[in-house]
Amino acid sequence: MRTVSVLGATGSVGDSTFKVLEELPDTHRVVSMVAHSNDARMVELARRFRPELVGLVDRAAAGRAREALAPSGIEVIEGDDVAVEALRATSPDLVLAAITGAAGLASSLETVTRGASLLLANKEALVMAGNLITRAAAASGAAIVPVDSEHSAIFQAIHGEDARAVRRIFLTASGGPFVDREAGSFADVRPEDALRHPTWEMGRKITIDSATMMNKALEIVEARWLFDVPAEAIEVLVHRQSIVHSMVEFVDGSILAQLGTPSMTVPVRHALGYPERVETSSSYFDIEQFSALSFEPPDAVRFPALDLGHAVARTLGLSGTALNAANEVAVAAFLDGATRFDRISETAARVLDALEDVADPDLEQILAADAWAREEATRCLSR
Ligand code: NDP
Ligand code: MG
Repeated sequence: MRTVSVLGATGSVGDSTFKVLEELPDTHRVVSMVAHSNDARMVELARRFRPELVGLVDRAAAGRAREALAPSGIEVIEGDDVAVEALRATSPDLVLAAITGAAGLASSLETVTRGASLLLANKEALVMAGNLITRAAAASGAAIVPVDSEHSAIFQAIHGEDARAVRRIFLTASGGPFVDREAGSFADVRPEDALRHPTWEMGRKITIDSATMMNKALEIVEARWLFDVPAEAIEVLVHRQSIVHSMVEFVDGSILAQLGTPSMTVPVRHALGYPERVETSSSYFDIEQFSALSFEPPDAVRFPALDLGHAVARTLGLSGTALNAANEVAVAAFLDGATRFDRISETAARVLDALEDVADPDLEQILAADAWAREEATRCLSR
C-alpha cells in the first residue's frame, strides 16, 4: 500500500487524480489533501477518500470544513503553509503536486527534500527553482515523475535509454484556441475567448497560458530541468489533435512517441503506478478515429512567448522565476479585465529584459526575484 498526498485536490488535475485513485483502492491510500478555499468539494472528497488530514489555505473555508468533518475524525488545518504542514504531518510516499503557480514551490521542494516521489503537475515550481528541486531530489534519491502530459510522454520514451542517445525532443502543442487567429488581432482577445480551449479542459490559469503558448514556454524550461537537455534540443511542434503527447528523437534516427486520449487521467495513472503499469477500466483509445495526425512548426510572431521559453532554458539563473512571476501577474490582470491579451507576453519580455540575473541562485534569491518580478510586471502593466 502506497500513501498519497494530493496537493491542489479540488482543481482540474485533482479531479483526474481522484478518478484514477478510485480505481486503485488496493494499492494507494490517500493520507492528506490540500486546496485553497473550495471547502465544499474538499468535504466531499474527504468523505469519499478518508484521509487523515485536510488542509485549506483560507481560514473561513477551513472552519466550515472542520465543522462538516467533525464526526469523521479527519483533522483540518488552515493557513498559507498547509501544503508543507500536511506533508510533515502525514509523510506520504507519493505527492501529487497540482497546486497552480508559484504557490506550489515550497511543497514541491519539501517533497523531494523528504525523499518522497514528486508526481509533478505544478510545472511553475520547476521553472522557478529547477536547480534546487533537481538537486534536492538527487541528494535524497526522490523520484520526480512528470504528470504534465508532454513530459510524461518524454519520460516514457526516454525511460531506460542512455541520456547521450537523445538527439532532439519534440514537444507537441495543440496551439490553443488562436492557432489560426490573424497575427494583428491579439489585442482584441477577450477572456471568454481565451478560456475556450479546443482539446483540453483545465484550470483557468493554464488555459490562458495555452492561449498565449506561454504554457509551452514554461514546458520548454520544465523539459530542460527534467531531462537535462540543452535548450537547442527542444523543439515545439503544433499538433492540433493532442493525441501524440510528445516525441523523442535518438541519435540513430529513431523517434519514439507516446499517444493517447487527451485526458489527464492517462499521465496521472502512469505517475501513480510508476514504475509499474496499472490497468484501467476506462479511457482506452480508439486510434481509428484519429487517422489524420498533423504536425507544423509554431508561429513565433503570433506566439512571442515561445522565444522567451527558449531564452530562459538557455540562460536559467533567475530567468525562469522572473518569467513565471511576470506571467502569473499578467494573466491575473487579463482575467480581471485589467490588461490586454497581447500584453501578457510583452510584460514577461520586459521583466526578463530588466532582470539582473544570478547563476545558480539559492532559495532566498529566487523568492526575492519572484517578488521583484511581480512588482516590475505590475509597473509595466500600469504604464
Ligand atoms: P486549477 O486551477 O483547476 O486547480 C488548482 C488547485 O490548486 C485547486 O485545488 C486550488 O484550490 C489549489 N490551490 C491554489 N492555490 C493554492 C495554495 N496557495 N495552496 C494550496 N492549494 C492551492 O488548476 P489545474 O488543476 O488546471 O492545474 C494545476 C497545476 O497543474 C498547474 O501548475 C498547471 O500548470 C498544471 N497542469 C495542469 C494541467 C491540466 O490539464 N489542468 C495539465 C498539465 C499541467 P481551490 O480550488 O480551493 O482554489
Ligand atoms: Mg502540458
